[in-house]
Amino acid sequence: MAYDPANIFAKILRGEIPAYKIHEDDHVLAFLDIMPRAAGHALVIPKAPARNLLDVAQGDLSAVMAVAQRIAQAQMKAFAAEGITVTQHNEKAGGQEVFHLHVHVIPRHVGVELRAPLSYKETPEVLAAQAEKLRAALRD
Ligand code: 5GP
Repeated sequence: MAYDPANIFAKILRGEIPAYKIHEDDHVLAFLDIMPRAAGHALVIPKAPARNLLDVAQGDLSAVMAVAQRIAQAQMKAFAAEGITVTQHNEKAGGQEVFHLHVHVIPRHVGVELRAPLSYKETPEVLAAQAEKLRAALRD
């Protein structure tokens, strides 16, 4: 399957639509999911085009996972999380909706179930405050 540069995360990378950014370097961007399955739900993506795990370059995958680890550590502090769920979907049959590789990094608390995917849209004010909290935790 070919990479389609019209996908929403490619638009975020090109600055065509906004995102609540948490981390950016030469190879990786991390930002908040606007329909979070739990507070602080982050997405980590490579800057280079990749549809998913099946076609991503190994170096980009390694860079994405290294950032995912740092985001998870920051979420433990910023959201007083008790655990972290990491998920990653590949192709329609694998649950993928946006066809630019992304790793979900989701703060968890004991006894709190994840919301169903795409079931809740967070407000811009809350997302902006959460992104700032995560950026601060990454600086610590
Ligand atoms: P997938 O099912 O492809 O693994 O997950 C796609 C994710 O992208 C979903 O969790 C969804 O909430 C999120 N998403 C969809 N559109 C946007 C958007 O415009 N901005 C952000 N930040 N996240 C989005």
